[in-house]
Amino acid sequence: MSEVKFASNGDAQADVIIVGSGVVGALIANQMRDEGHSVLIIEAGLRINRAQAVENWRNMPLRNRAGGDFQGLYPQSEYATAPLYFPANDYVGLSGPNGSSFKQGYLRTVGGTTWHWAASCWRHLPEDFRMKSLYGVGRDWPISYEDLEPYYCKAEEQMGVAGPNDPEMQSPSQRSRPYPMDMVPWGHGDRYFAEVVNDHGFKSIPIPQARSTRPWNGRPECCGNNNCQPICPIGAMYNGIHTVEAAESKGAKVLAESVVYKIDTDSNNRITAVHWLDTDGASHKATGRQYVIACNGIETPRLLLLAANERNPRGIANSSDQVGRNMMDHSGFHCTFLTKEPMWLGRGPAQSSCLVGPRSGEFRSDYSASKFILNNINEVPGAATKALQLGLAGRELEAEIRRRAIHGVDLSISLEPLPDPNNRLTLSDTRKDKHGLACPDIHYDVGDYVRKGYDAASEQLRQIGQLFNAEEFNITTSLNANNHIMGGCIMGSDPSDSVTDGDCRAHDHDNLWLPGGAAMPSASVVNTTLSMAALALKSADAISQALSRDAQGATA
Ligand SMILES: Cc1cc2nc3c(=O)[nH]c(=O)nc-3n(C[C@H](O)[C@H](O)[C@H](O)COP(=O)(O)OP(=O)(O)OC[C@H]3O[C@@H](n4cnc5c(N)ncnc54)[C@H](O)[C@@H]3O)c2cc1C
Ligand code: SF4
Repeated sequence: MSEVKFASNGDAQADVIIVGSGVVGALIANQMRDEGHSVLIIEAGLRINRAQAVENWRNMPLRNRAGGDFQGLYPQSEYATAPLYFPANDYVGLSGPNGSSFKQGYLRTVGGTTWHWAASCWRHLPEDFRMKSLYGVGRDWPISYEDLEPYYCKAEEQMGVAGPNDPEMQSPSQRSRPYPMDMVPWGHGDRYFAEVVNDHGFKSIPIPQARSTRPWNGRPECCGNNNCQPICPIGAMYNGIHTVEAAESKGAKVLAESVVYKIDTDSNNRITAVHWLDTDGASHKATGRQYVIACNGIETPRLLLLAANERNPRGIANSSDQVGRNMMDHSGFHCTFLTKEPMWLGRGPAQSSCLVGPRSGEFRSDYSASKFILNNINEVPGAATKALQLGLAGRELEAEIRRRAIHGVDLSISLEPLPDPNNRLTLSDTRKDKHGLACPDIHYDVGDYVRKGYDAASEQLRQIGQLFNAEEFNITTSLNANNHIMGGCIMGSDPSDSVTDGDCRAHDHDNLWLPGGAAMPSASVVNTTLSMAALALKSADAISQALSRDAQGATA
């Protein structure tokens, strides 16, 4: 087992250097350590204390809590800025027809953004890998669903995913192994919703979730207290920190508050070092044999552009000029109404059932697929606001709050973007972070494919409203971000128009790996972290092989 070596000036040396400690970086670190390699993770953000973050949430002003300020409870390093919205900072500059639909939330902390995710763990469909061949839109992946399937299984195992084992309730049902844990049981609202809609051509199924339905790898069983976003107080929901801690317990080293900003390359364009800045602004260097950049869909392309050097003047891994292009997220909107029968939402995890009927079909050659999540979030704040607006007081106010909280439905609809090279991340000429590094700018247009998908989804929502004899039926018109950041280092078989190959290895640099959302050529319509995790594990196997070849080369 080899170990990380630190020099007296703080420089470091390891077999595998990983930048970013989110789920993607952590899974690779853990596997590399299992195989006996020395692993250094360099992480820009702070370490988080779960109990303190829960306290911070409890003590936040009501307007932040009711408005969904999921970032504010996590202490931020002043040297690793993340986007904030309560109040907003200008770290990510947004422009273009739909810049405001790309307001992403992500954390820069040890463990990354899954500290406050919803833990929905979907797989892409087999056809999502062949968008161009099947529907004539978007891009094909250089790998197939079958290539990634074993890694989906591995990711589900490592993240502890609970899902339905009845193939009728799965999407997709092409699986080589059952879910590690049985599905999170549905509450009354999930069951009632499915009963009403499923006989009418809709398909409400359980959401596979990285939540324990029995004790799992040190995580307790989910107790259903509905606080998943912004933090699970008891750690029943998987967070990247679980895997970071597993890797650390085996000897991986994590440097927190260390911002990587520079990447060295040799005459063969292999990576020879990455450099980071500490909180005093001092620069240090890490040298290794294989390098992984796992900083998420925005920070990975930003770092590659920031690190442009003499041999790679457009940025690292960017001979194709595709770094920063094809930015994607599932644009979303909401449908709300009151039902005649009580729904009793708000007990159990934040989301447990979803309509996936419109996930795929021939229509995808024309417009975007969609999926409708039944939010299981406590409706009391919205109900109280509305009841107060009605001017009620005393018992009448209380009764109206109860009625609205019990009968309220909030569906969260996601749409599928296509990769468009004009949806582009560049470096700001004017805004810099505290280390003086350029902030990201993103130009975004959701495109007509998504706009037409909105119209088609709205039609289906109106049918659903009728099935419930809905009162106060409303569909929101503006599109919101869903924090599933993709594109930016797109995968492909042609190095002239893509950044990585099917293992997420940079075409330009033999020993550089860019796994995660940035590499994904199609977004599907489902949350994509499980796909990012599967890609990370596929990269990990390819990195192992590269390390073995390095070792054989050294002994030959
Ligand atoms: C509110 C919310 C809910 C979500 N719910 C879901 C869900 O239900 N299902 C789902 O699939 N997805 C969900 N997501 C998305 C999910 O959280 C992300 O897809 C996932 O965290 C990405 O993992 P990652 O490891 O690629 O990046 P991250 O988790 O963002 O980690 C990247 C790490 O890299 C570090 N880093 C960045 N730049 C540097 C640098 N220059 N030097 C050193 N370190 C650096 C960052 O500090 C960060 O810790 C949600 C996201 C949000 C915000
Ligand atoms: S419902 Fe409660 S225990 Fe279960 S994952 Fe969410 S916050 Fe954790």
